[in-house]
Amino acid sequence: MGKIGVLDENMINMIAAGEVIERPGSVVKELVENSIDAGANKITVQIEDGGKKLISVTDDGAGMDGEDLAKAFESHATSKIRVCEDLGRISTMGFRGEALASIASVAQVYAVSKPANSIEANCVEIDCGKKGQVKPCSSDCGTTIEVREIFYKLPARRKFLRSSNTEISHISEQFSRIALCHNELDMTLVHNGKVIYSFRRHESVRERAAVVVSGQAAEGLMETQSSEKGLEIFALLGRPEVARANSKYQYVFLNGRFIRDKFISHAIREAYRGFIEPNKYPAVFLYLKMPLEAYDVNVHPTKIEVRFDNSNLVHSQVLGVLREKLLSVDLDVQAGLAGSAEKFVPTAAVQHAEAERKQRITEAMADFFKKQKFSQTNQGRFSFSGSISAGRSGVGKMAGAKSYARGYEKQEGEKKFLQLHDSYIIAQSDEGFIVVDQHALHERIIYEDLCKRISSGKLESQRLLIPESFQVSDIQMEELKQRAKLIESLGIEMEPFGPGTMAIHSFPSLLGKIKPAEFVRDMLDLFTDKSFEADSERLVHEILDMAACKAAIKAGQKLSEEEMEQLIADKETVERASRCPHGRPTTIKFSLADLEKQFKRT
Ligand code: ADP
Ligand code: MG
Repeated sequence: MGKIGVLDENMINMIAAGEVIERPGSVVKELVENSIDAGANKITVQIEDGGKKLISVTDDGAGMDGEDLAKAFESHATSKIRVCEDLGRISTMGFRGEALASIASVAQVYAVSKPANSIEANCVEIDCGKKGQVKPCSSDCGTTIEVREIFYKLPARRKFLRSSNTEISHISEQFSRIALCHNELDMTLVHNGKVIYSFRRHESVRERAAVVVSGQAAEGLMETQSSEKGLEIFALLGRPEVARANSKYQYVFLNGRFIRDKFISHAIREAYRGFIEPNKYPAVFLYLKMPLEAYDVNVHPTKIEVRFDNSNLVHSQVLGVLREKLLSVDLDVQAGLAGSAEKFVPTAAVQHAEAERKQRITEAMADFFKKQKFSQTNQGRFSFSGSISAGRSGVGKMAGAKSYARGYEKQEGEKKFLQLHDSYIIAQSDEGFIVVDQHALHERIIYEDLCKRISSGKLESQRLLIPESFQVSDIQMEELKQRAKLIESLGIEMEPFGPGTMAIHSFPSLLGKIKPAEFVRDMLDLFTDKSFEADSERLVHEILDMAACKAAIKAGQKLSEEEMEQLIADKETVERASRCPHGRPTTIKFSLADLEKQFKRT
């Protein structure tokens, strides 16, 4: 006797439910998507006990007649596709015809529906796959589906559900993912009688985004858009200083559907590279529109992933439009906004830190004005005459003097810069003053210069009078061979010099201040860092960043008036000057208005 049996329909649905219905949040997603497909204008979601007790979704959409209501809960029952070709141009949220069947196989479901042009409403009850009779009843036009006691006959899965709080936060997340890209709808979410979200039709997506991310992250959202080669992009971009420790506030929507895509995430990360620290994620709301034929949604059971025909195009266009925006706006940290990322949840510790920060600002300002009085002479002990400097690197020498027109106007003989603790430069600006981290800014200036030079060929190199030798292991020797091209583009020449030894003959002239052997050794460490394996571009940037860091003036180095002037002037001419290459701020702006407030002058 054979061992193979064919599963009955309820078993099939329960297995499908394992994929599609993970928790109450997934039920909400599926039901709300059905309401949207039914052409609803208004959707109300009511939840009790994190959805464990009740999930109810009411819409004013097209509704179903008695016959459809009976069919809707059968597996593979759908009104959305009929023929194979339909799969290539899915315009509805659903199409697999398994959500209602799956949900009804794992919970007590009550559905009532009335088509828009009908006088008759019908209802039906399904208890874990056992369907009752469709009966006439009275109801408004549209559909309500109530789902009770999810997984109550599946203790293993019921046990897996978390606290009511955790489940409602998953529900809110699913709900807001839909609300953020369907601002043409009224959408309400209620938990235990309390309204969590109440979105009104035709609010802008910015207004909805502001509600979802809340706080100052929303205030600073920058808007950009593009339309090229059939791909329309609209984006709201969070400021770097309010970046978060996880990617929760990154929303990508494709034709009205929330998706996750590794190419797009990569493009976002790339766009923000150098503006935020590597372990931080900016808030980003990205809306993409493209022809239905240009991608496939039938690759994931919950349709959260899609397959683009041309993912390179999507990547480069997203990167392009985001980057252009970020490079075009002033991203200097405004003192009032600094640290506001923490303000999402103002715990006692954060409030304390905030109070301390205010105190520090007040003290720094008092200090500033005191020192300003005694026009202190600032004899430069440090000199830029080393092999690399902002001036010598050619970044801003010419433009430097001119750039003062942009708010750092300097009168003859007037002292406009002040160095604090040999590490920070204070400069007056039109709106107030700025505090610059001298190392961070110089690092950025050198880094940008190196990037520019390497992208237009190789770095200029200089022959060393005496070759510098260093020891290498066999593995390192292999790495050096494999990266020969990269090393050459950096302007470094070296040759084997006896067993286990290499000798450096030439080194980039821009990095003359750095010890060649030490630099190459550190570069070897980066070569063997596994995290760069798949991303050679990132590796190059990491090396240039290391070079910039080593070559830049250090914190604790005294600068002359001219050197400070040069540095501040160069700030105006390089890209991403608001952040060091690691993404930390180079500059904090203080406005006069802030000062006056702090000194209680207003
Ligand atoms: P799918 O959405 O993939 O078609 P579902 O199982 O989610 O599959 O729904 C099955 C069918 O039931 C839908 O195709 C639709 O015809 C109908 N339906 C479900 N929900 C609603 C609703 N809220 N209003 C009107 N029709 C609905
Ligand atoms: Mg559906």
